Amino acid sequence: MIFSTDYLKGRIGIIMITFLMIHSSCRSPQFQQDKTAGKLTIVTTTMMLEDAVINIAKDSVVVEAMMGPGVDPHLYKATQGDLQKLTDADLIIYNGLFLEGKMEDILERLGKIKPTLAAAEIIDKNKIRDNLFYPGTYDPHIWFDVHLWCEVVQNVNKALQQHDPKNAAYYQSNATKFLKSLDSLHLKVRDEILKIPDDQRVLVTAHDAFGYFGEAYKLEVKGLQGISTQSEFGLRDITDLVKYIVNNKIKAVFIESSVSPRAINAVVAGCKERGFAVDIGGILFSDAMGEKGTPEGTYIGMVHANVKTIVEALK
Ligand SMILES: [Zn+2]
Repeated sequence: MIFSTDYLKGRIGIIMITFLMIHSSCRSPQFQQDKTAGKLTIVTTTMMLEDAVINIAKDSVVVEAMMGPGVDPHLYKATQGDLQKLTDADLIIYNGLFLEGKMEDILERLGKIKPTLAAAEIIDKNKIRDNLFYPGTYDPHIWFDVHLWCEVVQNVNKALQQHDPKNAAYYQSNATKFLKSLDSLHLKVRDEILKIPDDQRVLVTAHDAFGYFGEAYKLEVKGLQGISTQSEFGLRDITDLVKYIVNNKIKAVFIESSVSPRAINAVVAGCKERGFAVDIGGILFSDAMGEKGTPEGTYIGMVHANVKTIVEALK
């Protein structure tokens, strides 16, 4: 009998999950300890989701993000250690909308056998941007519109209260405070971006992560790669973008912390060949936050850092 590679991968995924669920004795020591202490253990895919959990639950839960600083969620594949943590967790929270493209299968499978929240997937699709590169799919980068991120925070809040009802009032109170900070952040971002002159309000980055940001804060966004870093860019894309930058005298383009700078360097070189010096405006945190313990290691700090980099380079 001949099986396709996808079929075999799927079977292996199921067998590994089943194996890990049966062999609870292999549980990671930290999770085992925290389970015993009665704390809800949560695994998130991105740091942005982990940040939402931390702001709502503080140290009442144990939470860990699988994808750390500089990690590209479009390309990330679960390690054996991740599978162990996912099967041990009381609750799994992921973005969805195909952000975690290489893990979608395993996350959906786990969703059938244990509590799982696809926090962006359940937002009203009228508020979600289409992925024009792949009709019928969506743009998953919703954290760039702070108001839309508030809906994800609400979804995380509801899930925490549902799975840990004894702390529900505490979670609600923290969530209310956090959402208030996010409201202020949204207004601050809007005011800051207005400092950029109209003719420079263009954000050029490696991949098309900033669509929500552009829509919410009135910037035109140009990405070389598509919505996912899985798509390739060609010479034609670079030539078109170079032409656009030179014709519009755009002052700066930006590198992303979780994407190779190769594409943007090619654009800068192309502009130079045409006699136009475009700056690299700095590094933006697109699909991953900064290091833990730094301001950019929080959602609010990351947004501030991005806005500061953008405004300073383009104003
Ligand atoms: Zn992305």
